[in-house]
Amino acid sequence: MSFPFPFLIDQYQRRHTSLRVSVTDACNIRCKYCMPEKVNGFLPTERLLDFDSIVKIVTVLGRAGIDKVRLTGGEPLMRPDLPRLVGMLSRISGIRQLSLTTNGMMLSESIKALVDSGLTHVNISLDTLREPAFRQITRRDGVDRVLRGIEAALNSPLRVRLNALVMRGINLDDVIPLVRFAREQGVVIRFIEFMPLDADRAWSEPQVVSGQELRQMVEQEFGTLKRCPSTDPSQPSRDFQFADGSGGIGFIDPVSEPFCKDCNRLRLTADGKFRNCLFGRQEWDVRGPTKLGASDAEIYKIASDCVLAKFPSHGISDSGFSPPERAMYQIGG
Ligand code: SAM
Ligand code: SF4
Repeated sequence: MSFPFPFLIDQYQRRHTSLRVSVTDACNIRCKYCMPEKVNGFLPTERLLDFDSIVKIVTVLGRAGIDKVRLTGGEPLMRPDLPRLVGMLSRISGIRQLSLTTNGMMLSESIKALVDSGLTHVNISLDTLREPAFRQITRRDGVDRVLRGIEAALNSPLRVRLNALVMRGINLDDVIPLVRFAREQGVVIRFIEFMPLDADRAWSEPQVVSGQELRQMVEQEFGTLKRCPSTDPSQPSRDFQFADGSGGIGFIDPVSEPFCKDCNRLRLTADGKFRNCLFGRQEWDVRGPTKLGASDAEIYKIASDCVLAKFPSHGISDSGFSPPERAMYQIGG
């Protein structure tokens, strides 16, 4: 395949092949590690990137070597007509993986349309199986809806993964039941460390349960985990097999073991800004120029400027670190 635009390579020789597209900042739950309890309004529709603009931008990036697109948010299934966007993106040449990250609450209703439109992968967030803990974390009811969403996904042709976030003092006791559930369902579960991206700015290091601590807990219950060799250095998860050779479990440890040196991700916010890092302080507006009819080369230049300005690492552990202005749901996780 030939690429009309040069690859998106930053100053540290990291080649960008993966794009996270946030399609909304709205959400139907209020996870305390992400959103505030009371939201001061979501982006109005007229400020969201429209589907044609998303497709135009992804088409340009596809010609610069981006081959994986993940739709996220907020809760991406809150964006009306999402399967139509999936269908439009699935027809872009060069995009070989089209994934969705969702809280699963609305998944069972939309799974068929998403599959029919060309979605290939889905990651479903699940931090507990218990309704009281779900309510404590999300400030809403509905773990049964998430479980229905997981069931629907597992009965579909999609490649499914579960994502869990553990906060000390909140859901540490849920780790073993979650792992057991994932093993029973035959689905890979990945634990991601709590990062300072909560809207409440209540993050503190003691609340973070490191991947290493989680792994020790899991090994005590299920035996020594066996590391799966990684073929892709930009893959942030360290994946393991269980001792009995079954199932799969992964640990994504951005706080205790940052993986910035192999980061290959570029982000597009729901209001049409490129970001080169979750923790970046700068954004590059692409919505305005796209609406005004920017050429492919102009759109490429905005993405390339953004990538070239990427820092070597997120700096969470640096003295003087402060979290970005926008919280996780506003950036796109
Ligand atoms: N609403 C969808 C969901 O929850 O899956 C997609 C967006 S959400 C921001 C994407 C992922 O980000 C979720 O798996 C969530 O657990 C994770 N996340 C949110 N806030 C986080 C934080 N402060 N640190 C680490 N991960 C976080
Ligand atoms: Fe919503 Fe996802 Fe943030 Fe939870 S993590 S509040 S589901 S956007």
